[in-house]
Amino acid sequence: MSNRVFNFSAGPAVLPLSVLETAQRELVNYPDAGMSVMEMSHRSPPYEKIHRSAQARIRELMNINDDFTILFLQGGASLQFSMVAMNLMWPSRKADYIITGSWSKLALKEAKREGTINVAGSSEEQQFSCIPDIKTLTLDPNADYVHITSNNTIYGTQWHQLPSTGNVPLVADMSSDIMARPIDINAHGLIYAGAQKNLGPAGVTLVIVRKDLLERAPDSLPTMLNYRTFAAKDSLYNTPPCWSIYMVDLACKWLLDNGGLAAAAKRNNDKAQLIYDMLDQGDFYRGTVEKSSRSLMNVPFRLPNEDLEKKFVSEAAKLGMQNLKGHRSVGGIRASIYNAMPREGVEALVAFMKDFANRNG
Ligand code: PMP
Repeated sequence: MSNRVFNFSAGPAVLPLSVLETAQRELVNYPDAGMSVMEMSHRSPPYEKIHRSAQARIRELMNINDDFTILFLQGGASLQFSMVAMNLMWPSRKADYIITGSWSKLALKEAKREGTINVAGSSEEQQFSCIPDIKTLTLDPNADYVHITSNNTIYGTQWHQLPSTGNVPLVADMSSDIMARPIDINAHGLIYAGAQKNLGPAGVTLVIVRKDLLERAPDSLPTMLNYRTFAAKDSLYNTPPCWSIYMVDLACKWLLDNGGLAAAAKRNNDKAQLIYDMLDQGDFYRGTVEKSSRSLMNVPFRLPNEDLEKKFVSEAAKLGMQNLKGHRSVGGIRASIYNAMPREGVEALVAFMKDFANRNG
């Protein structure tokens, strides 16, 4: 495996090597099935077992009680921008959105098609370099829900304390920090996440929703856009993305075998701290995020100029550290260090940062 690189991509992103190796071993002949998971009927006993196992492992890892149902959907987190609003913005047709980056803005854009949106907080004036102070939020007690983006993949900010929304359900786009740390499921009404950063390959979107909220949507919604369709059939109403769900199951097993989410959070904190310490050391590298809002998953930073940033990205790639270029909308450098990024990858990056600064500072 010596030709595998450290992949700092924001997503699709690094997966645990042991998960890939299991998938490789089982690729052409899933145990006792005589065929690949890709070739199986989604109504067959081996696939049904995989499906249930993935749900059970997600439930165990995230400590999800029976008030919630776990759905496997398609269309990415982007379709959830619409589905959340269509299904949950009842009866008031009003919702609160907190805007902390490009993905929140896209969620807001879709929600506006469904009702009246109150922007209850925004860090846009701070160029999204922080999460708004929860004391300053202007939450509407009559909103149908409050929407946040728990981790802002592009700007590298993360919520470290949730707003208290009282009886108004909190909806969180956790695409880039799902299962990165333990969360209080009961503080949420709905959580959604595309799998392709922390959970598995692209193709499946995880939705965890409080069952009572499923009753809100009108029957007039298109069948495939109504959460009830999937909840009633345990996400087997139509053909689910079987292979992606299988991979999510393997990634969840890996998390469980390695101590669950508390242990994952510890590893993620330790890894992120290595880079943040480096950013705080001198003035060659400049972190772009307020300390209290720093993300454990995506670490953006700048160098003294863009030429040095280009050089940094290309030299790092030659040393086997790839995809360090910041998002095209913000530039700079971004190291995405999801659950499956090994500590050695971050250590290699920090050693390179030190060396690069010495040579170019
Ligand atoms: N939300 C966040 C926080 C994201 O990072 C992304 C993708 N990078 C999306 C939503 C969109 O996800 P998808 O591509 O699965 O639609």
